[in-house]
Formats: sequence, structure tokens, C-alpha cells
Amino acid sequence: MRVILMGPPGSGKGTQATSIADDLGVDAVSSGELFRDHQRRDTELGRLARSYMDQGVYVPDGVTIKMVMEWINDPVHSAGFVLDGFPRTHAQAEALDAEIKSLGGVDRVVFIKVSEDELIRRLTGRLICRNCQTPYHLLFSPPATKGMCDKCEGELYQRDDDKADVVTTRIQIYNQETEPVVDYYRRSSILREVDGEQAVEDVGKAMNAAISG
Ligand code: ADP
Ligand code: ADP
Ligand code: ZN
Repeated sequence: MRVILMGPPGSGKGTQATSIADDLGVDAVSSGELFRDHQRRDTELGRLARSYMDQGVYVPDGVTIKMVMEWINDPVHSAGFVLDGFPRTHAQAEALDAEIKSLGGVDRVVFIKVSEDELIRRLTGRLICRNCQTPYHLLFSPPATKGMCDKCEGELYQRDDDKADVVTTRIQIYNQETEPVVDYYRRSSILREVDGEQAVEDVGKAMNAAISG
């Protein structure tokens, strides 16, 4: 099973990706998280990616496509995937289609719809676990103990690109670059849209229904 999660920054892709992948018996991968992992390891790609991510703009297609294709082509991921945050440009969508065409292509694209005001509230209050990357929110899904991850007791932090000024740029870039990719999948019959402004559990149920239906 090969599933793509699409939606603007803050729509809830990361919140839903792991449980959806678990249900399907595949692994989830976030392109943003792959970049942050390179940053933590201070690789050349990590340093390059940081210069774009800190400004809220996309990392160039060439390096992004190469990094995600390596993940997809790793034999441990041969059962399929849930992709969170890729593809975000036409070039990325075409590269993905070409790469997995012989395997039957993408089975389902789930688009999570959330209004812009809500995205800003979500992104500016988001906290992430340093250890397991689980997302929390100061008000909407706070951890049981302040500053600490419920799952692994890791420290929670705010991403540099979740500061208010960068958030606005990221939403603009999404509208310019990625909204057309959503339309591209909408024209094929594989896209399903879900209302992302429900409780986390209800969004998850709607997404599961969209994938199996
Ligand atoms: P994305 O991966 O699409 O950028 P996240 O999954 O990280 O989005 O969610 C963004 C923020 O919104 C996080 O702080 C998360 O806790 C919160 N959030 C996610 N889903 C919901 C929801 N259904 N209702 C309220 N807040 C949510
Ligand atoms: P979001 O919460 O916006 O979904 P991500 O963690 O997915 O955040 O992405 C963080 C940043 O990583 C993006 O703003 C962008 O700079 C970079 N990035 C992630 N995925 C891609 C991609 N597919 N193409 C280009 N840049 C990407
Ligand atoms: Zn954790």
C-alpha cells in the first residue's frame, strides 16, 4: 500500500501518519523529519537544508527527490509507505510517479483540509519531542507533564520555523507550489479530502475511511 498525506503546514499530517502507517502495516516517513535528522547529524545535506528551512522555503527538488527515493528504495520499506510532506512540487510528483510506476503507482492521496487561521494557531503553538518527534500543542494537545513527551519522556521544543514570521512564508509557499500538486492528484481519481478541523481521533477515522473506501 502506497499512501500520500497532503495538506498545508500544520494540517495534522505528522499527528496522523504513524497510526495510519501502523494500521496499514507499512512505515511512515516525513521529508521534513529526514532533513531534521540530517541537521542533527550535521551532514552536508543537513547544513544545506537548514539554510532553506530556516527561511520557510522549500529545499531544492534535486536533493529532496534523491533523499526520499533512497528511503523508498530501501528494501526494508518494500511493503509500501505513508509519505508525509512529499511530493510538494510538480517535479517531485513526477519523479515519484516514474519511480513507482512499475509497482502500480500511488494507491491513495489523502488531503487534509484546514483553514489558514487555524493553521497559524496550530503551528505557533506546536511543540515537538526531541527524542521521538511526536508533535504536541500548548493548548490543543498538551503533554501530561509540561515540557515532557508522554511516550518517551523526551524534552519538548519549538521548531525554529514555527516562529510566527516564518509560518506566514511557509503557508504562502505551500499555496504557490503545492496547491497545484493537490489539484494534479484531484484530477486523477486517487485523491480523497478529509475535514482536518475535527478532534484528532475523528480526523484519523475519516482518513482511515478515505484510504479503505
Ligand atoms: P503537519 O505535520 O501537517 O505540519 P502536525 O501533525 O505537526 O502538522 O500538527 C500541527 C499542530 O497542530 C501540532 O501542534 C498538533 O499537536 C496540532 N494538531 C494536529 N491535529 C490537530 C487537531 N485535529 N486538532 C487540533 N490540533 C491539532
Ligand atoms: P510542515 O509542518 O510544514 O509539514 P515539514 O517538517 O514537513 O513541515 O517540513 C519542514 C521544512 O522542510 C519545509 O518548510 C521545507 O523547507 C522542508 N521540506 C520538507 N519537505 C519538503 C519537500 N518535499 N520539498 C522541499 N522542501 C521540503
Ligand atoms: Zn518522545
